[in-house]
Amino acid sequence: MQRQRFGRTELQVSRIALGGIPLMRVPENEAVAVVREALALGINFIDTANAYADSEAKIGKAISGAPREELVLATKSQGTDAATLTRHLESSLKMLGVDYVDIFQLHNVSNQERYDAVFVQGGSLTWLQEQVKAGKVRYPAFSSHSVQMALTLMETNAFDAVQLPLNFIDREAEQAVSLARTLDMGFIAMKPLGGGLLPDAGVAFRYLLQFEDIVPDPGIETVEEIREIAAIVEASEGLTADDEAEIAHLREELGATWCHRCDYCQPCPEGIPISSVLLAQSTFKRFNAATAHLLVDKALERARNCTECGTCLPRCPYHLAIPELIKESLASLDTT
Ligand code: SF4
Ligand code: SF4
Repeated sequence: MQRQRFGRTELQVSRIALGGIPLMRVPENEAVAVVREALALGINFIDTANAYADSEAKIGKAISGAPREELVLATKSQGTDAATLTRHLESSLKMLGVDYVDIFQLHNVSNQERYDAVFVQGGSLTWLQEQVKAGKVRYPAFSSHSVQMALTLMETNAFDAVQLPLNFIDREAEQAVSLARTLDMGFIAMKPLGGGLLPDAGVAFRYLLQFEDIVPDPGIETVEEIREIAAIVEASEGLTADDEAEIAHLREELGATWCHRCDYCQPCPEGIPISSVLLAQSTFKRFNAATAHLLVDKALERARNCTECGTCLPRCPYHLAIPELIKESLASLDTT
């Protein structure tokens, strides 16, 4: 697979990365097979996180024996103090079976509180710079779900790479792609398939591949998925008129207040699977009625217990009016 320069890091990375979230959900042998297939296809960039359960350990097992200098390993920590960050980094190194990571991302810096923890004297950024000096991290980076917060962080020029959600229904980060280009930062595109909402991988990747210098980071669960996506990337076709029509149709269908399925709003004290409820209408459009009922009925039942306590509201990086949207979702489905 084609390699490209990853901003000022000068790392040579594959045209796409392998995202580690779904590796949590599959048995170890299947996860190892996915990672090894990715390597065999020429994908040398693997992105994971301390928060992704045993994803790092599975990746570590899969890459053992692979030449370290051929790999570009990225991980993340949600820690906001030096002790937690150190514990997470040491755990990542151990699980991955390496003595350094190429890219270490402060995970989900999406609000003012997280921002302050980065820049406070002796905060996360200082810690990260110390790890670079110690040789445990090559390049400091961050991930975020807030484009505005990311732009502010990027402008400090303290980071070599940024990761943001970007896909054809979530295009706000296009402005961050431009800024990354200006600042010569690496750009990782999270959620290339809209967290599972975009059914056609061909359209989704052809949209992203328009941006020559970004690295889409699909979460992969099966060998078949990684083969399918690698084939789309290798074909390197531009967007077709049919693609443009499908994009317009899906944008209209999902509207502006769509839930990104990130689950940062959890846990809900009433146990409501919020994203399943907010996306229930879309589930009914995408699946036949029997399957859709199977997928969302329990979630909708629970949703009727929403107390409108508001606990979820400040946690949503997209500022969705969750209790209102739950009511709308229930009302609309009750009348269909
Ligand atoms: S407002 Fe409703 S959905 Fe949000 S945390 Fe409270 S009970 Fe859960
Ligand atoms: S409601 Fe907000 S926080 Fe919860 S899953 Fe959807 S986008 Fe994420």
